[in-house]
Amino acid sequence: MTSSQKTDVLVLGGGPGGYSAAYRLADLGRNVTLVERHATLGGVCLNVGCIPSKALLHVASVLSEARESKAIGINFGEPEIDLDGVRAFKQKSVDKLVSGVGGMAKSRNVTVVRGVGAFKDAHTLEVTGEDGSSLIQFDHCIIAAGSRPVTLPFIPHDDARVWDSTDALELPFIPKRFLVIGGGIIGLEMATVYEALGSEVTVVEFADQLVPAADTDLIRVYQRFNKDRFTVRLQSKVTAVDARDDGLHVTVENNRGETDEAVYDAVLVAVGRRPNGSQIGADQAGIKVDEQGFIGVDNQLRTKVPHIYAIGDINGNPMLAHKASHEGHVAAEVIAGHKVVFEPRTIPSIAYTNPEIAWTGLTEKEAKAQSLNYEVATFPWSASGRAIGADRSEGKTKLIFDKDRGTLLGAGIVGINAGELLGELSLALEFGADIEDVALTIHAHPTLHETVGLAAELGAGTIT
Ligand code: FAD
Repeated sequence: MTSSQKTDVLVLGGGPGGYSAAYRLADLGRNVTLVERHATLGGVCLNVGCIPSKALLHVASVLSEARESKAIGINFGEPEIDLDGVRAFKQKSVDKLVSGVGGMAKSRNVTVVRGVGAFKDAHTLEVTGEDGSSLIQFDHCIIAAGSRPVTLPFIPHDDARVWDSTDALELPFIPKRFLVIGGGIIGLEMATVYEALGSEVTVVEFADQLVPAADTDLIRVYQRFNKDRFTVRLQSKVTAVDARDDGLHVTVENNRGETDEAVYDAVLVAVGRRPNGSQIGADQAGIKVDEQGFIGVDNQLRTKVPHIYAIGDINGNPMLAHKASHEGHVAAEVIAGHKVVFEPRTIPSIAYTNPEIAWTGLTEKEAKAQSLNYEVATFPWSASGRAIGADRSEGKTKLIFDKDRGTLLGAGIVGINAGELLGELSLALEFGADIEDVALTIHAHPTLHETVGLAAELGAGTIT
């Protein structure tokens, strides 16, 4: 039998977008029902994305430091890896956050319904769970149903040695020969983890650069640092994977059309993520979904159906947790009648690799493509006392600013903790700061963030 209930606001999907929206709505006094198909809240980010990957990257960083500390006069010997212990540490990080998010639903009286949701019409969602199905009627709805990994048609995804990012985070085993297809952020983070755990890693990337969205000079620093750690094949594509008993026989084609074959013990497919727009019966509610599965929205996150909103990965790029959660807050406040819009000046991007690659605002590539009259100021970490003292002086801090007015347009950093250093630059961009404002801010000595101040001083000196 199908039961039926009513809610003021229905939120579909319990990831960073969905739970942020639901909790803000509850704080604003709305009656909220949150529908999630998985047993835990937190979505991709907390369960199989941001959090487990960062826990494993921490393990990777401890391993690399232990191995490389000979250079500073300490020899720990080759670290012993207890894979069960590593898995337990990762899971403990996930569980702590997931239970915190679940507790917040309880304390705010948000009704959580477990099951797969699909629209029946513009005011009704059908939820199918273990105990059958129920109908939920709503006045407003926020779709936050996220995304899933892209699969490739010529790859045997059902073979246990062919992984997506979720599989890789489970640490099924440490492959001796490991191929990562896709040199974007997720691919490189997993390459960092498995290289540190002892795999021989090869990364194949179709574009002419790793992390194609980032500036080339930052990536050059990253690649130079990693030249002996893993093999990178650019402008190349995997065209076949043949699963045999002795391994996965992989054919790679380069940009001259030449092919070669190599054998791997595991392959990670990390070629992007596809939004879940086509999986929720959107057409029944009159919501338009494009060919890729994205649901278009206006600057208040409203779809073409005015009482239905879409936030997070499902409404477009960049697919990042902090974009999803900020959008969740805006959609919630719009429903509550606040006059707000989602128009950030910047959404920062970070690859938590070794070293980290981070950027905010415009990249130099984008400034060039927009024919802006810009200038770049860089500070090499080879002149940073803090970086030298940490034996990690390969990094670089780069600021992009308007050549005439000095307005900060963007920033990029490659180096240890680059992601943490980016915070002040996102704030500066949101505040519309000039490069001189950054230069006049006293940065503590010796710190890595001092490189931001020093780059700004160099840049400010060029403005007449
Ligand atoms: P999701 O987190 O995907 O949540 C959607 C939820 O909706 C899921 O829980 C899903 O089960 C549920 N759902 C979907 N359809 C239905 C349905 N029909 N019925 C019921 N429930 C449904 N981003 C960062 O900002 N920083 C990082 O460091 C980072 N690292 C990442 C690492 C990896 C390996 C991966 C894969 C992603 C990473 N991301 C990172 C991206 C980040 O996880 C996503 O951008 C973020 O989770 C998007 O949030 P969301 O709320 O839009 O969707």
